[in-house]
Amino acid sequence: MEQPHALLVASPGLGHLIPILELGNRLSSVLNFRVTVLAVTSGSSSLAETEAIRAVVARGTCEVTELPSVDIDYFVEPDATVFTKIVEKMRATKPVVQDAIKLMTQKPTVMIVDFLGTGMMSIADDVGMAKYVYVASHAWFLAVLVYLPVLDKVVEGEYIDIKEPMKIPGCRPVGADDLMETMLDRSNRHYRECVRCGEEIPMTMSDGVLVNTWEELQGNTLAALMEDGELSRVMKVPVYAIGPIVRPNGPTKKPNSIFEWLDKQRERSVLYLCLGSGGTLSLEQTIELACGLELSGQRFMWVLRKPASYLGESSNDDDLVSVGLPEGFLDRTRGMGLVVTQWAPQVEILSHGSIGGFLSHCGWSSVLESLTQGVPIVAWPLYAEQWMNAAFLTEEIGVAIRTSELPSKRVISREEVASLVRKVLGEEDEEGRKVRAKAEEVRVSTERAWTQGGSSHSSLLEWAKRCCLLSFTNNT
Ligand code: UDP
Repeated sequence: MEQPHALLVASPGLGHLIPILELGNRLSSVLNFRVTVLAVTSGSSSLAETEAIRAVVARGTCEVTELPSVDIDYFVEPDATVFTKIVEKMRATKPVVQDAIKLMTQKPTVMIVDFLGTGMMSIADDVGMAKYVYVASHAWFLAVLVYLPVLDKVVEGEYIDIKEPMKIPGCRPVGADDLMETMLDRSNRHYRECVRCGEEIPMTMSDGVLVNTWEELQGNTLAALMEDGELSRVMKVPVYAIGPIVRPNGPTKKPNSIFEWLDKQRERSVLYLCLGSGGTLSLEQTIELACGLELSGQRFMWVLRKPASYLGESSNDDDLVSVGLPEGFLDRTRGMGLVVTQWAPQVEILSHGSIGGFLSHCGWSSVLESLTQGVPIVAWPLYAEQWMNAAFLTEEIGVAIRTSELPSKRVISREEVASLVRKVLGEEDEEGRKVRAKAEEVRVSTERAWTQGGSSHSSLLEWAKRCCLLSFTNNT
């Protein structure tokens, strides 16, 4: 039999590109599929996107092509949300993907798009490929997304006015505070886009959904999606839990200032702070966070971004540090903490034994990178599905702590910051002890999922069998 060929299409943005590249890597290394990734870019790729592609190409597991950017500015409103812009961009890129497929010497067996790219799914039918949606998030997010069209029919008024969390059959109920901001104004056309997205996952007649979670983490939610019941009737197609799929720790790292400093720290004694590929804080919040770190007396490694309200022209990193941080902060915390600007090798840092906690915006890739290392989280959600992720991690799984109010809704004071940091790192704190123990338990379950015969390993093999069979049937 010819080697199966998977065609993966990544929507723009590092947060979408990395999960698709890693999925491609897994299909190649575990299933021996040939893998082609088509990366839809937002115009010019950022340095981080180019680096992510280069790293995967160097591993030799996937062929990656960056597609030329299609102009959507003439029909998409300038104030459209990022979500809407990506969905429209993916739809408009359909002819480019079709052209790319025509040039391929080996026809793909299966097409996989992330959930923002379902608008190009029909391409698979023209070519006779199997077609799957990849939700690089958790099963509760998938459940809420596909159930949103039902809520849209039965709920009256705005979700924000409903006091009780809304019921999702067989799953954790969802409160308005957990929903993406795009879902909160129902008169808005961006809300409609979310509902359409939820409808399209089962409606595009995809052959199924791959989701970046695992049985031991979300058994009940996965059962509600797959076994006979109200939610599975909405879902309609099979769901394969194949996670956690995360970027592996890179090859032996060169000694540099970050790792030289981490090597000198005690085991599990450092808090790592990073708010994903695009998260920024206000100047006021940056200052409170800095003062809170200082007040906590704990060690830290902080990836600092230009504060959102900083309008200075300078692109000099030293200036950014001095503008965003309280006066004298770097001198006072010398030896206690390390501040790096803009970007850091996160997977390698989280794998370092000195890291004892992660203050994170709770993007799902960051969460998985933390959990696969057994590092507990201080949840600092900023936007999109991060609120939902934070609620899930703190209230359902117990691997994270957070303040009672969302950091995006008010400034978190230095005293609260210091208390969170002491909790997650401090050996004496009971709540801290619990989240650390739980994070270790979850780490072990991530390994179990991917051993030979583990739940995610088996699920991926089952998926491969099914999609090769479908492709064969489509072509006979
Ligand atoms: N990342 C990194 N260094 C940084 C910031 C981010 O390596 O300084 C990586 C991180 O490891 C993760 C990705 O960027 O793989 C961010 O994805 P996530 O889903 O956590 O958040 P998003 O950026 O999509 O909000």
